[in-house]
Amino acid sequence: MSATILIVEDEAAIRELVALNLQQAGHRPVVAASAEQALAMVRETLPDMILLDWMLPGISGVELARRLKADARTRDVPIIMLTARGDEQDKITGLETGADDYITKPFSPREMNARIKAVLRRRAPQAAGDAVEMKGLNLDPATHRVSGDGHPIELGPTEFRLLHFLMTHAERVHSRAQLLDQVWGNHVFVEDRTVDVHIRRLRLALQASGHDTLIQTVRGSGYRLSARAEE
Ligand code: CA
Repeated sequence: MSATILIVEDEAAIRELVALNLQQAGHRPVVAASAEQALAMVRETLPDMILLDWMLPGISGVELARRLKADARTRDVPIIMLTARGDEQDKITGLETGADDYITKPFSPREMNARIKAVLRRRAPQAAGDAVEMKGLNLDPATHRVSGDGHPIELGPTEFRLLHFLMTHAERVHSRAQLLDQVWGNHVFVEDRTVDVHIRRLRLALQASGHDTLIQTVRGSGYRLSARAEE
């Protein structure tokens, strides 16, 4: 399991400790010292998860969580609140703003990793590293292998990530902008039609086993991977 995790924490010592812990667990940590900095970073690239300190100078952790959950683009990014308080009411407030879980400081690396794993599995399956299957199409992120009805399928790195995202978010329509955010990681410098180019390559690669029909074009909206026949 390897996820890009944004740590928002004003205390440098804790920030570095958490980043080191995440790195040792195989994740890619990125850090922000304030909510303002975190907002600027998220505007550029969506992380797979955010570890968010409750007590921040300027915009508070709760306020940042509220803003991210109110924005359609960032709503689905899971958030784990880091709190130094033992107060039940604070935990309830945190969860009410849309945070997925909370960790009370001081915490052990083992506890943190277990909670991250659980939340990723639940909320960001593309980062959880589990093998996925749909109608005989198999993708295993651990071995980077794809097969259709048992026959290996060769994919380029972008097509692999694209298929992985679509398979872990099946039956939902994704706009080109959303796919750029989720698969390319940075929606600013890539054109929308780049998505169409890679969808075409992906369909071509899936043609031999007939799995290209799983990828549906939804006119005016984007793309969807679906086990159901196209309407
Ligand atoms: Ca703090």
